[in-house]
Amino acid sequence: MSAKRVGFIGLGNMGAPMVGNLVRGGHDVMGYDVAAGRAREVAQARAARATDSLAELARHAEIVITMLPSGREVREALVEAQSGALVANLKPGAIIIDMSSADPVGTRVLHGELARRSIALVDAPVSGGVPGAQDGTLAVMIGGDPVAVAAVKPVLAALGKKLFEVGGPGCGHAMKALNNFLAATSSAAGAEAIAIGRQFGLDPAIMADVINASTGRSFVSENLIKQHVLSGAYATGFALGLLAKDVKIAADLGEQIGVDAPVLQLVDGLWSEARDALGGAQDHSRAWEHWQNRAARKAAE
Ligand code: NAD
Repeated sequence: MSAKRVGFIGLGNMGAPMVGNLVRGGHDVMGYDVAAGRAREVAQARAARATDSLAELARHAEIVITMLPSGREVREALVEAQSGALVANLKPGAIIIDMSSADPVGTRVLHGELARRSIALVDAPVSGGVPGAQDGTLAVMIGGDPVAVAAVKPVLAALGKKLFEVGGPGCGHAMKALNNFLAATSSAAGAEAIAIGRQFGLDPAIMADVINASTGRSFVSENLIKQHVLSGAYATGFALGLLAKDVKIAADLGEQIGVDAPVLQLVDGLWSEARDALGGAQDHSRAWEHWQNRAARKAAE
């Protein structure tokens, strides 16, 4: 695999360890983040370069990766910030990979706008959380034009062990939102099951063991209930606002496509309500505490 010059925008919980894996993979990485000092801090820790100029990042990069909260920040960084410095300074043939979990319809629009400037955009969101970002074992869901997808796969291989080509532009982002709808549903249903069991007199830790040996098990039951909820750690590194955003993306997609999705609407409402009550910056596992407290209050009435 040939080493690439990579520009990386968005050095948060996921982006920072991903930069480390790109550097370990032999790539020459320059990082940018809107938070003051963040790029320098991550660059020092991960043996990368830092910049506060999107023009400089664009001049450096053969490949630009975005790992930002949502499609809104992706559009801002790529075409609006610093007067459109990124697209104005990209080298011919450079490819952008958006690894954020973004709205697939917006991604298709952005793909078209960039294509008119001869810039390829691949959407490649990920699953596996902060541990997957640290270990380079993320599942990557790749959407885009086949030539651009083939060109970026060697770079994505430094970040994930499971690379799935799921379709044309926006398909990666659609796949990701639908996956997170399922994970969010496991959480919402799991919190209800534990609340009912607790009120009846079951021990939640024993419930988790039984579920994990039974047909109700899921990623959530195996990795969240004991580790983050019952322990009180609430430290997955995945913010409540980000998961609520993903479920909303899936709900909007269902509506735009015209597919009746009553479960999705219910789950969207539950996560939005938890986000509004607790604040989007809280760890998403705190929603369990919120729902458990509500269930206990209701049972005491
Ligand atoms: P984060 O909030 O920790 O990091 C986002 C970073 O982007 C921050 O450092 C922020 O300063 C920076 N940023 C925001 N706006 C910017 C802008 N306009 N220009 C440049 N930098 C900007 O978020 P995260 O947990 O790293 O998640 C990033 C993306 O990955 C999200 O779309 C999220 O849904 C997705 N994701 C997260 C996880 C997880 O477990 N945390 C797992 C899978 C996917």
